[in-house]
Amino acid sequence: MNIFYSTRSDSNTCDAPSAILKGLAQDGGLFTLKEVPQFDLESLQNLDFISLSSTILSQYLDSYPKDVIQDCVESAYKQNFDTKEITPLKCLKDFSILELYHGPTAAFKDVALCLLPHLLLASLKQKNLNKTIVILTATSGDTGSAALSGFSNVPNTKALAFFPNNGISEIQRAQMTTLEANNVLACAIDGNFDQAQTGVKNIFANIKETDSLMFSSANSINFGRLAPQIVYYFKSYFDLVKTQKIKVGDKVNFCVPTGNFGDILAGFYAKLSGLPINKLICASNDNKVLTDFFETGHYNKNRDFVITTSPSMDILVSSNLERLLYYSLDFDSNQVSQKMQELKEKGSYQMPQKAMDKIRETFCSYWVSQEEAKQTIKEVYEKENYLIDPHTAVAYKAALNFKSDSKFLEDSKYQTIVLSTASAFKFPKSVLEAIDLKPVSPSAKDQLERLCSLTKAQPPKCLQNILNKEERFKDVIDPSKMMDYVLTKEVNND
Ligand SMILES: *Cc1c(COP(=O)(O)O)cnc(C)c1O
Repeated sequence: MNIFYSTRSDSNTCDAPSAILKGLAQDGGLFTLKEVPQFDLESLQNLDFISLSSTILSQYLDSYPKDVIQDCVESAYKQNFDTKEITPLKCLKDFSILELYHGPTAAFKDVALCLLPHLLLASLKQKNLNKTIVILTATSGDTGSAALSGFSNVPNTKALAFFPNNGISEIQRAQMTTLEANNVLACAIDGNFDQAQTGVKNIFANIKETDSLMFSSANSINFGRLAPQIVYYFKSYFDLVKTQKIKVGDKVNFCVPTGNFGDILAGFYAKLSGLPINKLICASNDNKVLTDFFETGHYNKNRDFVITTSPSMDILVSSNLERLLYYSLDFDSNQVSQKMQELKEKGSYQMPQKAMDKIRETFCSYWVSQEEAKQTIKEVYEKENYLIDPHTAVAYKAALNFKSDSKFLEDSKYQTIVLSTASAFKFPKSVLEAIDLKPVSPSAKDQLERLCSLTKAQPPKCLQNILNKEERFKDVIDPSKMMDYVLTKEVNND
């Protein structure tokens, strides 16, 4: 059976259900495997997404019975996505685009957050715990909407998202406040995202499990969010084989728009599991902590935070990077703890040369400015008649930079797959600013309509009517009242 280790101490180990229920190890580390399952490409190549997902996940999460994983995967993907392929691959002239935005909130987090609630329930069962799981999350937009939607109507779960009243887009707000499920709730706070996040951390530090309730987070450091993402790296590889651009066994590159380092790390696991990945290209926006890190080996969050048109990548501490450090330091949890302590105390740390050499065998990174991202949206639209969102544009441009980098002449001969993490219709303002000659209306409804009429494209179903729906959740509270809110709405009500 696979053992999950904390990245910060060898004595902190558990099985998959515990790792998923706990999320974070007690010592603050992240649960990770030292040895990952190996897959034979030939035997996987003709599976559809659901079969591929249950085959890969039942090896990674091997302490659940296989039929339990199969049920989880079916509940997650059978109805929630607007295409049977779940994560289709679209071949353009420059690159192939892996579309990860066909889920219920039109962003890639859906792939993991549709499955996580079912994995949590399976974990409870496995551990003979007869409780309801209450998921609490602070969100700057994408995570909250994907979490609430993923947990909607899943029995024995509840989910509550706190969001900054003036800090998220109209569409993101509507995605949370108009949900019709009775087990989810969204609440605005009079404050910014940091205050929401601090508030949720305080709640976790102070709230006590009851006889019938336990509390958990849907944060991207949970291994249960990482594992489902490994699947689409394999799936897109096999889709590329089907187009005859590659043969089974050929290497490919992936370019990933990166924030918390979860998505790209899943690609790294895919490589460790035997997928022939040549390079993983980490694309950053103006908050280029990761690009600097891959270049210099020095991680330094002491810098100005830039609010960009790709908000889900506006991050200065990429939590999941810790799992890559652990690997590159040959599983030396003492050294990982030390680096994380330095990050906490000084905001920076330096990695040894040897570990960086190991990391650079697979990873390279480029950062892309907002202006370049905007230009890329326009160019891809004009050249390919294909709409990309600002996050995907950052990755697309980074992939172009990789292709023309003389350092990587050999590497760029391989096919490159660019991960597309959101529908362009989720960010109509930025997309219109890139492609429309007319001034852009401040109303999200007008923007969506204009984007449709200009491009003759239809928004994903989940966004089509959302701004006309009635808001069910209208509470706005002071950040100091968040704990009271949880007690009133979730605990005393139980
Ligand atoms: C969350 C998100 C990302 C970043 O993914 P990480 O796993 O945090 O690196 C990129 N694009 C979009 C649209 C997202 O929602």
